[in-house]
Amino acid sequence: MTQSPPRCLTCGRGNTPDVHDHVPPALDLERDVGWGDSTYLCKECCEKIGLLWGWMPPETVREMEDQLNDQAMQLHELHSEMEEKERRMNKILAGREALRQEREARKIRTRSARSTTSGAS
Ligand SMILES: [Zn+2]
Repeated sequence: MTQSPPRCLTCGRGNTPDVHDHVPPALDLERDVGWGDSTYLCKECCEKIGLLWGWMPPETVREMEDQLNDQAMQLHELHSEMEEKERRMNKILAGREALRQEREARKIRTRSARSTTSGAS
């Protein structure tokens, strides 16, 4: 004997069409109870079972993917900004080093010029 209409094994919700003539999905467990009654689980009960084992609803997954994409974009922008500042910093440091080397070379030239003039007298 088959239950008519089929009902959810857990909550008893049937698969009768709603006001929009939409029949909610149900999972057929392909097992018989009560001498031939089919067993079904409604979508809500399947989701509850899935939640117990870490399943996430598709809407939640989509929201998390959107957040992840936003964070990846922010990370990319921050990396670009950091690389630009690093390039500027390297140019500043290179300029500073060139200036230091020039001052050092100038000191050496000045000392050698003094020693040359003092040695001549
Ligand atoms: Zn149910």
